[in-house]
Amino acid sequence: MLLTITTTHKPATDLGFLLHKHPDKFQSVNLSMGKAHIFYPESSQNKTTVALLLDIEPIDMVRGARHLSGKGFPLGQYVNDRPYVASSFMSVAISKAFSTAMNGKCKTKPELVETQIPLEAKISVLPAPQGGETLIRKMFEPLGYQVKLQQHILDTQFTDWGNSKYFTLELSQTIRLQELLSHLYVLIPALDNDKHYFISQSEIDKLLAKGQGWLVNHPLLEQITRRYLRNLQSLSKLALERLSEGEKIENLEAEENPEQKPRKETLHQKRLVLVLEQLKLSGAEKVIDLGCGEGKLLRMLLKEKQFTEIAGMDISYDELSKAKDRLHWEEMPPKQKERIKLFQGALTYKDKRLEGYDAAAMVEVIEHLDENRLPALERVVFELAQPKIIILTTPNREYNIMFENMKTASMRHTDHRFEWTRKEFESWAKGVAARNNYQVKFLPVGEVAEHIGAPAQMGIFTYGN
Ligand code: SAH
Repeated sequence: MLLTITTTHKPATDLGFLLHKHPDKFQSVNLSMGKAHIFYPESSQNKTTVALLLDIEPIDMVRGARHLSGKGFPLGQYVNDRPYVASSFMSVAISKAFSTAMNGKCKTKPELVETQIPLEAKISVLPAPQGGETLIRKMFEPLGYQVKLQQHILDTQFTDWGNSKYFTLELSQTIRLQELLSHLYVLIPALDNDKHYFISQSEIDKLLAKGQGWLVNHPLLEQITRRYLRNLQSLSKLALERLSEGEKIENLEAEENPEQKPRKETLHQKRLVLVLEQLKLSGAEKVIDLGCGEGKLLRMLLKEKQFTEIAGMDISYDELSKAKDRLHWEEMPPKQKERIKLFQGALTYKDKRLEGYDAAAMVEVIEHLDENRLPALERVVFELAQPKIIILTTPNREYNIMFENMKTASMRHTDHRFEWTRKEFESWAKGVAARNNYQVKFLPVGEVAEHIGAPAQMGIFTYGN
C-alpha cells in the first residue's frame, strides 16, 4: 500500500524539511509487521512528492495478531487484503516515519510548520466499508478537502463481476502538513472494517492527540470515534466523553449501531436466566463460566447457595477487570471471595484449570471464534475439561430478519465470526456430542417465531449415556 504526498508550494523541496526526510535518501523504518520505506519519486523546486510504501510481512502479522480473523478458511490468516490496503498499519507507519512532522516540529525552518501549503495526498488502495464512496466523502469533505475517488473493479478479466470495495483516494487542499497527517492518521483506520492491530487504552490518547482541534467539530465525530476504536464500545464512549469535555454519552450502542440493538438487555437477561435455571436444575455445585465477559452470569451464580465453587474465564483482560469491578471483588467478604475465581485463558488451548467442574456455561461465546478454531474448542472443553454438563448459547441467524435496520448479510455484533441457523447449530452440536460421549438437547431462547425460531438457541450437553 502506498501513500504519496505532493506539494507545489514554492520551493516544493521544503517538503523534505517539513518531513525531516532528505529527498535524495531512501530510508526505511521497521514496523512490528514489516517495513515502511520513504522515498521521493520526484523532487524539484516546483513539485515534490514523497512516498510512503508499506511492505507488510503476512507472517509477522499472523504471529502478532491474536485477533486476526481466519475469514472462514484455514489460510485466511495468510491470504487476505491486509498487506495491500491502507489500514491502521498505515497510521502506525505515518506516525513512525513522519513523527517529527506530526508533532509539529521543524528545526531548520520552524515557520513552515504553521504555513498552509498546497498538498495532495494519494492513497492506493483504501477499503471502503458499507456506504462506500459517500462515507469516504463525508469523512474528508467537511475538513475542506477536494476528494477524488476511483473505485476498482473486482477482476479486470471478469468485468461483469462488478466493483470491489477498494478505492484510490486523492485529497487536495491548502493546509498545514501536520493537519493532513493527523487527518490521515485518524480517518484511515476509521474507514477500515477489519479489526485493528493494536487497540488499547492508549489508543484513546492517540486519537485525542491526533484529533485535536478538528475532530470535535467534525459532523461524523461519533461515527469516526467509534469506528476508530472498533468494537470497543466502552473505549469509544470514554473517548467521546473526553472529547465533549466530560458530558455523559448515553445509549451509544442503540443509536448508531443498529446491529447491536438485538443484544439489548432484555434478550440477554432472558438468556442468562434460562442458563441459570438449567444450571440449578443440573444439581451442579462447581460451575465455570467460559467467556464470562463482564461477569453478568457470575453475579447471578453468586446469589445461589447451591454453587460452592464459581469460576469465570475469559480471553480479554479488559472484560475480566470489568467483571472484577462489577462483582465488587475488592470489598467482598473473605468467605464469598473464596467461592469465586477469575482467570484469563483461551478456549482453544488445553488448560488444566478448566478441569474438575460439574458444569460449564458458554453464553454467546462460540460465535466469537473463527470457525476453524472450533475443533480446538471442542477438544479443550468437551474432551479434556469434560464437565458433566455444558450449557451453550449462540444466536439463531434465521431470526436476524426480525431486526429492523439490520442488513441481510450482516451479523448482530461486529465481532461475530459466524452466526448459525438452527440446523447448522444442531448439526455441529450433535457431532460434538457424538464424538465426545455427550447427549445434547436443544432449547429456544426468547420468543419463538413461526418458521424462523427464537432469537437465540441453547444446547444442553450432558456427559455419558
Ligand atoms: N458470556 C458473556 C460474554 C459474551 S461476549 C455474556 O453472556 O455476557 C463473548 C466473550 O467471549 C467475550 O468476553 C470475549 O472476550 C470472550 N472470548 C472470545 N474468544 C474467546 C476465547 N477464545 N477464549 C475465551 N474467551 C473468549
